[in-house]
Amino acid sequence: MNYQNPDIDPVLQKDFLEVINAMAEVYPNINGKARLKYYFDAVKDVPLKCLRDISKSFLMSSKYMPLPSDFTDAVSEWKKKNNYFKFNPDEPTKIECNKCGDIGIVVMKKSEGEFHSLINCSCDTSVFQDLKAPKWSNQLSGGFYIESCPFEWFRPKTTTKLDLENSEIKSIIENWNKKKRKAEKYWRDLGYKHEEEK
Ligand SMILES: [Zn+2]
Repeated sequence: MNYQNPDIDPVLQKDFLEVINAMAEVYPNINGKARLKYYFDAVKDVPLKCLRDISKSFLMSSKYMPLPSDFTDAVSEWKKKNNYFKFNPDEPTKIECNKCGDIGIVVMKKSEGEFHSLINCSCDTSVFQDLKAPKWSNQLSGGFYIESCPFEWFRPKTTTKLDLENSEIKSIIENWNKKKRKAEKYWRDLGYKHEEEK
């Protein structure tokens, strides 16, 4: 299903253009080609609601055409004000390992669509380092390949607040722990002893 939630899902290009074109009635040059990309870059990771909010505040209070850098600042302000946390592990600016998205754990698969187990990524940039499993290496592959953990595993559908008491966040964490326990059992059953790895 391709349901777009304006409160959570990242801004789509068509919605972005709609907002910018509306702003162009007040700031005639804002939809000029040269800068359009930079405006989009500033808002592409935030929900449409954020873009609408900041556009509204520019229209209400800015005499001059806001620049892309004003958008970036407004987005940071908006995030702070709205307690907005992003769960997308693919954030391009901060990610050092694009195999695991810096989670430190990857999915091991034998064929498309088939989940097999979790394994530690071969990198050292992990956020979670508590999976009792070996580190991935190509010698270990045996017909398997690795993929980053799907975004959907971590993305809440209704809440934008990282509140550990929130039932949706709780169930996301529970499901993740369940997957990890299953993976650890898999490796234990194969004879893997985590302590020896260190
Ligand atoms: Zn990694």
